[in-house]
Amino acid sequence: MIQRNPHEPEFHQAVHEVLGSLEPVLERYPQYRKAGILERIVEPERQIIFRVPWVDDSGQVRVNRGFRVQFNSAIGPYKGGLRFHPSVNLGIIKFLGFEQTFKNALTGLPIGGGKGGSDFDPKGKSEGEVMRFCQSFMTELYRHIGADVDVPAGDTGVGGREIGYLYGQYKRITQSYSGVLTGKGLNWGGSLVRTEATGYGLGYFVSEMIQARGRSFQGAKVVISGSGNVAIYATQKVQQLGGTVIALSDSDGYIHDPEGIKLETVKRLKEVERKRIREYALAHPAAVYTEGCSGIWTLPCDIALPCATQNEISEESAKTLIRNGCWAVAEGANMPSTPGAVQQFLAHGVLFGPAKAANAGGVATSALEMSQNSLRYSWSFEEVDAKLKAIMTGIYRDASRAAQEYGSPGNLVSGSNIAGFLKVARAMYEQGV
Ligand code: GLU
Repeated sequence: MIQRNPHEPEFHQAVHEVLGSLEPVLERYPQYRKAGILERIVEPERQIIFRVPWVDDSGQVRVNRGFRVQFNSAIGPYKGGLRFHPSVNLGIIKFLGFEQTFKNALTGLPIGGGKGGSDFDPKGKSEGEVMRFCQSFMTELYRHIGADVDVPAGDTGVGGREIGYLYGQYKRITQSYSGVLTGKGLNWGGSLVRTEATGYGLGYFVSEMIQARGRSFQGAKVVISGSGNVAIYATQKVQQLGGTVIALSDSDGYIHDPEGIKLETVKRLKEVERKRIREYALAHPAAVYTEGCSGIWTLPCDIALPCATQNEISEESAKTLIRNGCWAVAEGANMPSTPGAVQQFLAHGVLFGPAKAANAGGVATSALEMSQNSLRYSWSFEEVDAKLKAIMTGIYRDASRAAQEYGSPGNLVSGSNIAGFLKVARAMYEQGV
């Protein structure tokens, strides 16, 4: 596997992590080996790489690289976000697409796995530049996607604004109004709760996970990394559930507000003014800003929710968190804990919710957006929120049940891997080669 996919360490890491849980499954279902399920499941069905030329504000032509990896369609059309970030390369998109396949299966909804994006860096770009980039990106991507084929959405660097520009271009080219993207604006086919969904879902998942051990958010001190869409709405949900969020970060540094984060300030800075998190400290003198984002894990807390990016918690950071009394961790970002960190959490009895279970609320609500688009109807906030909550509870239940049944009770890493794998593997097996 490694030889066939050289120089893709994140993809290797994600594959290794899933396959590492599957021994007891393959003992029970030897037919999956014979059917080559493992060999097939690690190979994307299709990988598309394309040129994205665009014109910057000075008139200079720039070129970025676009990707869409259609990983697995065993249980439904490819579904997964687009990430615009300078770190994006094929290996990153493959790791994300692979994870997405199992995450989407865990939601119980009929969506396969895919992921895409570009090494375009939206930081410091003007509105016009972002729009022209999105239009150029879609000018190629449109031929590979469709409401029943592949339905992209947002991820890091792709929010409501970018989805708008992408959708506008799709419509211009194809003259079709369809559920080809999710995360759309509310007055043009979007779903209520989609914006909040990943963060809210994370809150619901953690509630289930900690309630099972007789704990709750009430009075808990919570550290959340990131300050994008996931982190903002995770903060909101944690606050609603009685926890105090004391820190947030961005790629430059972190803010510590022992009195509790004032979310209105973060929303203004991040969603409206598109500024850096350091500005928070100017508005709230009780808060301290520190340069460097990994320092956030040295803050004593009860619960840590990494919502920034992959491999943001090193083994050392995990040890520090545990030493400082952290008793629960759940991943809002995709694969934010290094393998060493996960090992530490599990070995020390920290309740640990892995990304493919804990952050599935975003894509689950995307699938609900697709349902509403097909129905040409929209559900109320309360209806979508109730469905999201039920889905997150179901994911927790399936993952903990699978962990129990396959010999690692309480281990939600194994449980999520096994429960997600079984759904995809069964579908692939039943559909033949
Ligand atoms: N990017 C999100 C994820 O990692 C959401 C994808 C979607 O809604 O399709 O799951």
